Amino acid sequence: MKIFDEIESEVQCYARSFPRVFNRAKGEFLYDEEGNEYLDFLAGAGTLNYGHNNDLFKEKLLEYVQSDGITHGLDLHTKAKGEFLEAFNEKILKPRNLEYVMQFTGPTGTNAVEAALKLARNVTGRENVVSFTNGFHGVSLGSLAATGNSHHRGAAGVSLNGTSRMPYDGYLGEGINTTVYLDKVLSDSSSGIDKPAAVLVETVQGEGGINAASFEWLRDLQAVCKKHEVLLIVDDIQAGCGRTGTYFSFEDAGISPDIVTLSKSLGGYGLPFAVVLFKPELDQWKPGEHNGTFRGNNFAFITAKAAIDEYWSDDSFAKEIKRKGDYISERLNKIVDRYGEGNFTTRGRGMFQGINCVNGELAGQITKRAFKKNLIIETSGAEDHVVKFLCPLTINDASLKRGIDIVEQAVKEVCAKEDSIPQEKDYFPTEESVSYLKVSNS
Ligand SMILES: *Cc1c(COP(=O)(O)O)cnc(C)c1O
Repeated sequence: MKIFDEIESEVQCYARSFPRVFNRAKGEFLYDEEGNEYLDFLAGAGTLNYGHNNDLFKEKLLEYVQSDGITHGLDLHTKAKGEFLEAFNEKILKPRNLEYVMQFTGPTGTNAVEAALKLARNVTGRENVVSFTNGFHGVSLGSLAATGNSHHRGAAGVSLNGTSRMPYDGYLGEGINTTVYLDKVLSDSSSGIDKPAAVLVETVQGEGGINAASFEWLRDLQAVCKKHEVLLIVDDIQAGCGRTGTYFSFEDAGISPDIVTLSKSLGGYGLPFAVVLFKPELDQWKPGEHNGTFRGNNFAFITAKAAIDEYWSDDSFAKEIKRKGDYISERLNKIVDRYGEGNFTTRGRGMFQGINCVNGELAGQITKRAFKKNLIIETSGAEDHVVKFLCPLTINDASLKRGIDIVEQAVKEVCAKEDSIPQEKDYFPTEESVSYLKVSNS
């Protein structure tokens, strides 16, 4: 359609990878104007964990609209908001022994991250925030300062202040616990790293290339935060809402973050919705100090509650995610073994997995070929070198198999070409070069 070239900004991105005009979607499928069917392994970058236009939520939403339920209410108490809060408290927080208050922010993920950072800075009276290599937290200035990606950072137009970067788990290679470095610089008044208000972390880095931190590393990170009285913020915008196999991605690590951000799949239906959760003692906001016109989307309250009631009233959905996640691991490992010639690796957790093709060119060829076979799948990572599997969690087994079959075929075709397997080019430090990291943690 010509109109997109004519007046839609050059800033468009996903539309370039999948140049069709889409007009309908259901479950794990998208349809274009010509009626072609596509299997959706992008799922709104993790926003459609429950699939497109989930009937269970649609029915509730239609009922609400029909009955002239509140659409916009600033931050007024509405029945829809109250019922969402009750469902979240009873079915998500209490069973997990989590005690959090909830702040409704503007409707996108970055709004929640901005609020979390502001709260942490206000409560502690410190400016610096530690974030991690390859982290992604959004593109408004505060979140962008905590984001690693130079393509996004470069567009800021102003200096990005108030953050320090630390190596994420695995960044310096196997066997190096990077929290030791964090502990060291926070212990050393001459390290040049100002004592931070908070550490901001994703348990699995989505945009950064499906880098999964080990549970042990997350526990160590929490211990370092506690030791130095620094707040721990988990940005669970992409990894949360079931993606890794549990409602919050940090549950199995056994940590209890001070602040948590949620958005993407929180609303359930793909409706914009974001919140910050924090421990009650941190709730030092003064009324209206942080506001916004679209705080709390009432339509999303309806669908978010429906999602909790339907999928999170017991542990059967979590078990399903683990089962499908195991299947994905098994298949991806086989693909890597068969065609990766020792270079490709798998990464991720639950239904948040990827194939690291080392080379972005190659990963791009794989996703392009997959699209020709009607599979929508994207890449992520610094060089777009990771093929990222993000299908809806509700996908049926046959579609899941079909999508992975398509990727396998695409990998096979791309890798069959001569000289297409790149050599390992990552920098792995030697024993000597990292001896400074091996400081005792006690
Ligand atoms: C997508 C994402 C954000 C930003 O959310 P937007 O809705 O795009 O502003 C922040 N953090 C993480 C981990 C994300 O994946």
